[in-house]
Formats: sequence, C-alpha cells, structure tokens
Amino acid sequence: MVARRCCASLGMEIHQVSTIAAVRVTVVRIERMVKRQDTQHQTSRSSTDMNAGIVIVGGGQAGVQVAGSLRTIDAEIPITIVADELQHPYQRPPLSKSLWSDDISKAAIPLRSAEFFSDRKIALLTGVRAVGIDRETRRIDIEGRGSVPYDALVIATGARARSIRLPGADLPGVHRLRTLDDGLALQQELRGVDSLLVIGAGFVGLEVAASALQHGVKATVFEVQDRILARALTPTISQWLTDFHRRAGMDVRLSSILAEIVADENGRAAAVITDNGERIGADLVVTGVGAVPNTEFAAAAGLLVDDGVVVDEHLRTDDPAIWAIGDCVRFPSHFSGTSARVESVQNATDQGIVAAKNIIATLRDESQERYVAVPWFWSNQGHARLQIAGIGDTAKADVVIRDYGDDKISVFVYEGEKLTAVESVNVPADHIAARRIIAAGGHLDPSVAADPTIPLKSLIDTRAI
Ligand SMILES: Cc1cc2nc3c(=O)[nH]c(=O)nc-3n(C[C@H](O)[C@H](O)[C@H](O)COP(=O)(O)OP(=O)(O)OC[C@H]3O[C@@H](n4cnc5c(N)ncnc54)[C@H](O)[C@@H]3O)c2cc1C
Repeated sequence: MVARRCCASLGMEIHQVSTIAAVRVTVVRIERMVKRQDTQHQTSRSSTDMNAGIVIVGGGQAGVQVAGSLRTIDAEIPITIVADELQHPYQRPPLSKSLWSDDISKAAIPLRSAEFFSDRKIALLTGVRAVGIDRETRRIDIEGRGSVPYDALVIATGARARSIRLPGADLPGVHRLRTLDDGLALQQELRGVDSLLVIGAGFVGLEVAASALQHGVKATVFEVQDRILARALTPTISQWLTDFHRRAGMDVRLSSILAEIVADENGRAAAVITDNGERIGADLVVTGVGAVPNTEFAAAAGLLVDDGVVVDEHLRTDDPAIWAIGDCVRFPSHFSGTSARVESVQNATDQGIVAAKNIIATLRDESQERYVAVPWFWSNQGHARLQIAGIGDTAKADVVIRDYGDDKISVFVYEGEKLTAVESVNVPADHIAARRIIAAGGHLDPSVAADPTIPLKSLIDTRAI
C-alpha cells in the first residue's frame, strides 16, 4: 500500500510505504522541507519568534507526546519530529511482554496513527538522524541532508540498550531488546527454542524470562548483584518476586559472575561459563543489563550532561531555547529531592505534556509549570503485575507490608512519617490509591497501610488519610 500525504505547514511531501501492517516506512523528501524552512527562516524570523517552529529530536514516547500536546495548545505553530528509526513510532513495552505470544510487528502498537500526525500537521520525519545543533543560529544538522531551523528545540533522544562487556557477547544467538528491530530479530529465533539464558535481572530480562517459562521454555537468569531489581525495588519486594519466579520454575542465580559466552561448532552462542567454571547451556541468550541515555547529541552541542541531559524543574536545559524530556533526561525530582533519571512511559508522557506547556508559555512570555508528576511504573512478569508509585529509598529494609496472600502484596516505603513509595504486585487498587496519597503529601497511617482489610480507596474517598 502506498499512501501520499501532504504536510502543509512545511510544504513537503511524505510518501508512506506500508510493508507489513504495523510497520510503516516513511520516506521523506526532506531536502524540500529544508529549502522551504530556509526561506521562512531568512525572510521572516526576525519579525516573529515562531516561524521556524518547534523541532523535536526523537520519535519515541516522549517526542510523540510533546508534539501532540504542543498542537493541542497551539493550532498553528510548525512542529517537526526528526526520528532516526525507520518504523512509524511505536510503544516499547509490548516488545518484552508479547515476545512469545504475538507477532511482534503487530504487538508493537503505534504510539499514534499516521492520521494523527497528518491531521494535526505534525511533520514526522522517520529514518532521519539529527547529528548536531548550532545553538548560535538555532539550527539542527540532519545527517547528509543539511540543516533545519528551530525557535524551540526538544531533545527526546531516549536511551539505548547497554552493551555487555563479556567475551562472546557479539556471537549470533545473543540478543538485546530495546527496539522493534531487536524484537523482530529475537522473535525470528524463538521457534523451536527449549531453553533461554537471560543475563541481567532487570525489568526487561525478567519479563522475557517469565513469559518464556509460560510458554514452556526453560529460563535461567544471571544477576551479578545479590538480589533482583536492586536499583528499583526494596529488598522486601525483590525477595518476594525472586521467590515467586523460582516457584514458577525460573532458575534465578544471584551474585553470579559470568566469564564468557561460548559458541557451538556452528559459531552460535550455546552456553555461558561462570567465573567458577560452571557451564550452563541454552538455545538462546538475551542480555538485559540496563540502558544508556542518548546524550551525545546534546553533549556535542555543549549542553550540560550528567548521565542524562540536565534540565531544570521546567524541563529546560541550560540553553533557554532547548528542552529535554524522557529517558535521556536528568531532572530535579520533586519527590526524592535529588536529581533523577527515570525510564518509564509515565515519565516520558508527563514530561512531554509539561514541556509542551512551557515551550508555548515561553514563546508567549507566560509563566512556566514545574514538573511534579508522581512517578509510576509497571512491569508484567508472568502472572505478577508489578506496579510502583513514587520514589522511595530502594535500600530500605524497614517497610510496611500489606500481604493479601494468594500472590498479592503491597509494600509501603516511608521517609519519617511520610509515605514516599508503594510497590504492589497484583493489587492495582493499592497502586492507584497510592499515587493519589503520595500526590497529596504522603499521609497514611502505617497501621492502616498494614491492614489488608481496609481498602485504601475508601480512605481517599472519605478523606480519612
Ligand atoms: C522492552 C521494553 C519494555 C518496557 N516496558 C516498560 C513498562 O512495562 N513500563 C514502563 O513504564 N516503561 C517500560 N519501558 C520503558 C519505556 O518504553 C521508555 O521509558 C520510553 O519508551 C521512553 O520514551 P523516550 O521517548 O524517552 O525514549 P525512546 O522510546 O528511546 O525514544 C527515543 C527515540 O529517539 C531516537 N533518537 C535518538 N537519537 C536520535 C537522533 N540523533 N536523531 C533522531 N532520532 C534519535 C531513538 O532512536 C528513539 O527512537 C520499556 C522499555 C523497553 C525497551
């Protein structure tokens, strides 16, 4: 199917070629756009601040959100998304959750339909990489295609899968999972697989291992730390989940140091060797050792970077014309009182909404909004739906436990008398209530928190918290 669309605000043509249902490759005549914007820039930028418009680098959750929110606030301002992946923007969470059950190309749900962008005159340039920023003249350089002017720039470049430093990590049969291409490559090899090794007990690795088990595939998970999800969860819920996975048949190996990944006679990954010489074989290896923020683009332009593009409470970088949002950002957290970099759909979405308001407010000389959304996250691991609200001290052993039995539990983390985070498994009602309680200041009597017979929702409704 070939569809042709015209983006009036930039006077450019976009040809969309759908190869398979959910994967659309957009070929953009960017040269024409660059030429047109050049003309706009030279002739009228001095008379108004809003002719070049807003350029967003990155077509992920954050980039697409900020574009949509900008258009909701301002019907006219030109908006361009520069996205280096070839595919139409898609959601990442299904990649690890639907790997074994669905065709990943269909499971990768579009973030927004093609019509969403064309109807709103948002120019979506896929397969196009931004390689530099000239902050003096306010232009971004596009790889091999010249440059594009901006009045406001949003950096939403996300993160990439961290590479594992281990001999054999580049063998065929060793996979990572960040992009749709990664998911497609991994899914191609799943057929006929009986056993899987996962290196790294983070969210992605555990989701892949848990769903493998559900599909009859033996799963072994190696974690270098002495507990799973140590950076994200308290020891209590970390232990609870470890027990849960082990009961389901997952071989979870903690404090486990690997020496290498070794190949079979065909040169494919076939086993790992631990540092004490044990050999554990499997048909496939997946590495899930975290993500690295894509900050090189910002750093090369001299913006402040510290494991994330550094922004203020309004999500603005140290350049007043540049904002940054999503996985690539380090921001002052309203809840933890420290700076944070958060990789979650909620963070990318809510930062997109706030950045859009602040960009338009700046162009209109209005006041800015602080980013104060309560952080929340979910992860589906087999039959365990883990949900986290707030930011708590993940090293804290002293927590309040509300145990419902039957694989349902919530753990409440306090800082003094203030509730700062709630980790729940299979109790969505606690999670929803916790988000509201934390947003309202974190007032919850610990004895009430510990009592599973008192629904938290009833406390919110009656204002008894
Ligand atoms: C397998 C998986 C499962 C997940 N599951 C969950 C979950 O269950 N719950 C949850 O809350 N979160 C989950 N996440 C995290 C969530 O998907 C991310 O937090 C979210 O996608 C971040 O959005 P983003 O737009 O900041 O970054 P990204 O989604 O990484 O998008 C950034 C985009 O910018 C592009 N880009 C980078 N540099 C350039 C450049 N120079 N020029 C042009 N484009 C560029 C990148 O290629 C990418 O397409 C999951 C992530 C993965 C990988």
